[in-house]
Amino acid sequence: MLVTPLGPLGTGGRLLMEIAWFKKIRKPKQAVEHRRIQVPEGLWVKCNSCKEIIYKKEVLRNANVCPKCGYHFRISARERLSSLFDEGRYQEVDTDIYSIDPLKFRDAKPYKDRLREYREKTGLSDALINARGTLGGTQVMMSIMEYGFMGGSMGSAVGEKVTRAIERAMEEQIPLVIISCSGGARMQEGALSLMQMAKIAAALGKLHEARLPFISVLTDPTTGGVTASYAMLGDLNIAEPKALIGFAGARVIEQTIRETLPEGFQRSEFLLEHGMLDFIVERRQMRDVLTQCLRVLYDRDRSAAGLRRSGAPSEDVEKIEAEPHAPAMDGSRRTVPFPTPIAARKHHPPEIR
Ligand SMILES: [Zn+2]
Repeated sequence: MLVTPLGPLGTGGRLLMEIAWFKKIRKPKQAVEHRRIQVPEGLWVKCNSCKEIIYKKEVLRNANVCPKCGYHFRISARERLSSLFDEGRYQEVDTDIYSIDPLKFRDAKPYKDRLREYREKTGLSDALINARGTLGGTQVMMSIMEYGFMGGSMGSAVGEKVTRAIERAMEEQIPLVIISCSGGARMQEGALSLMQMAKIAAALGKLHEARLPFISVLTDPTTGGVTASYAMLGDLNIAEPKALIGFAGARVIEQTIRETLPEGFQRSEFLLEHGMLDFIVERRQMRDVLTQCLRVLYDRDRSAAGLRRSGAPSEDVEKIEAEPHAPAMDGSRRTVPFPTPIAARKHHPPEIR
């Protein structure tokens, strides 16, 4: 009889082979021991736009901009302040202004508790920091919004702080820069939040009369009552690329007008094309562009305002105003090239029907 490794060949052997199909002859798979790769938390970040996993240090070195696609990560108010002011040095002012809870507002939890929580989390009194310092050698007053504090919403404390920053700029005769990052007016303070829009706009009117420049920087996102007031009232309105800027949300608009909105609606590039912004500036260039803008806007205004204050004849003031960019006689004042917008304004002639 012929003997095969599986048994004697014949009916019995075939049976054995057939059974082998159903029997587990092979060893069951051994559970593979998973060795978890230890990655320290926060070493890598995923880009929200191109979905690439990037080394966090690389992003930080790049001013929190994705090196692959140029997506601007949201950064805190303090990070922005130290990246803008000369040597990252600035002085915080108006730190003792707090919102109270006049309406005893309550949603999922009382507003009072919410405020306390965010104050502990961010170490800020409210969603805005007022700071004074030099930017490219020019003394400026800066108000900057913190999205991490209740979505950067504007309540009475934020409104009051912005107003005080404007008044300080007037008092010290220096330019004002406001950097917005906000979900809009704070509903927990109802009409008090909305009234801030008028208060700030009125103060900005005075700043304008005092001929002091106000540059508004709009970052992702700038929406609601903030867009509807000071964010859009700058002598220059500058935005970061692809920032969401709008008043009402896109879905609400779509439902109201019953139309599909165009692509890129409410993004910086769309607003620039439609004349709502002056230019779009990448974060890495923001400091340089602000410096140049201040040089262009401020020297002229300061001279005129200074002259007016000292009671100089109005002809002299008018002469300076008429020749804003005249170089100084000693040649000390260089001609400053105006910032080149990275996204040039496209001209779209309206369709004639
Ligand atoms: Zn990216």
